[in-house]
Amino acid sequence: MFILFGFRTREQMVSTSSMVCEVCGVQASQALVKRSTKFSLFFIPLFPVRPSAYYLRCAHCATMRPARQPAAAAGR
Ligand SMILES: [Zn+2]
Repeated sequence: MFILFGFRTREQMVSTSSMVCEVCGVQASQALVKRSTKFSLFFIPLFPVRPSAYYLRCAHCATMRPARQPAAAAGR
C-alpha cells in the first residue's frame, strides 16, 4: 500500500486596478493575487498549511510584490 501526499500552491486573482507600479514607475493594471498552499492527499487538497498571502502583479513589468491583506478578505 502506498500513500500519495504533497503540497499544492494555487494563485487566485482577486481584483485588478490601474495604479502606478512601485518597481517600474509606469501606470498599468495591477492584479491582486491570493496565493495559498494546501496539504493534498491523493491529489485532493485538504487543508491550508500556511496563511494565505496577497501579492500585486504588474501587467507592465510582471513583478510580484507583497500586498497588504484586503479588508474584505480579512475573515477568510
Ligand atoms: Zn511594473
